[in-house]
Amino acid sequence: MTRQVSATERVLAELTGVRVTAWCCRRAELVGVLRFAGQLHPMGGRVVVLVTVGSLAAAVRVQRGLYEVYGCRADVLGPDSRPFQVDTGAPPRGTTAAVGHGSGGHRVLITTGGGELARRTGLTDCAGRGLRGVPPQLVAGRVCDVAALWRGAFLTQGGLSGPGRKAELTVTCPTAEAALALVGAARRLGVPVRSKELRGQPQAFVRDLDAINTLLSAMGVREMLTRWYQPPARAGVATVEAFGESNLASRPGRRRADRPCCPKGHGTTSCPAAGHHGIASSA
Ligand SMILES: [Zn+2]
Repeated sequence: MTRQVSATERVLAELTGVRVTAWCCRRAELVGVLRFAGQLHPMGGRVVVLVTVGSLAAAVRVQRGLYEVYGCRADVLGPDSRPFQVDTGAPPRGTTAAVGHGSGGHRVLITTGGGELARRTGLTDCAGRGLRGVPPQLVAGRVCDVAALWRGAFLTQGGLSGPGRKAELTVTCPTAEAALALVGAARRLGVPVRSKELRGQPQAFVRDLDAINTLLSAMGVREMLTRWYQPPARAGVATVEAFGESNLASRPGRRRADRPCCPKGHGTTSCPAAGHHGIASSA
């Protein structure tokens, strides 16, 4: 029987393929990845960084980013903790490279230069003390980097349920401060995200469909927004609408090409934000 691909998996699959050329955005995405899924382990006078991600593609993206942006070499480990031969693309025997999300995913291990990486990304101060939130200069910085921060956080800890009335986008956060930082970052994108605690775990979440649409779009999701969401047919509406169109349908005269993609309400072809939130258009 064919397993149905979840909404979260679809988003993750698309996000791992988003091509980002701006260095500021690549840095911001990596900070999001490290802050929301990275663990610092003091070991024999140095710091080892371990990042758990949901898929092989995400792990390779993080590994490549760490090397190209920070010159930091990292190993990708499969679910069984064996080193993954990324160059050959062949998974170790007995493991799968299927897209997943959670503790069974792949891991990125930084054994050399982890302490310096943590300092350069603002996750620790010069005394090595860890940050509880997110580097404030990032949350208050460029809009393109705020979107990239969200992409990094979602790549490692994000979830999407729905569509329909139960639609919810969540990011599980390491601390309440990190959740509040995501709330503040989303506000910069014009999205009303809130924070909560679920079974003792802080989360940032949003349930409004239009807001989810805006947030996913800012992160770089394109395909899924036009193909995936099919809201239940309403009385008097015979056609299936694309994700987000249900709200737009009540705004006469608004063409699909004018759908807001950024907080200023620019269309997908006219947004002047740096590289459309730093994302290459050919992605
Ligand atoms: Zn940027």
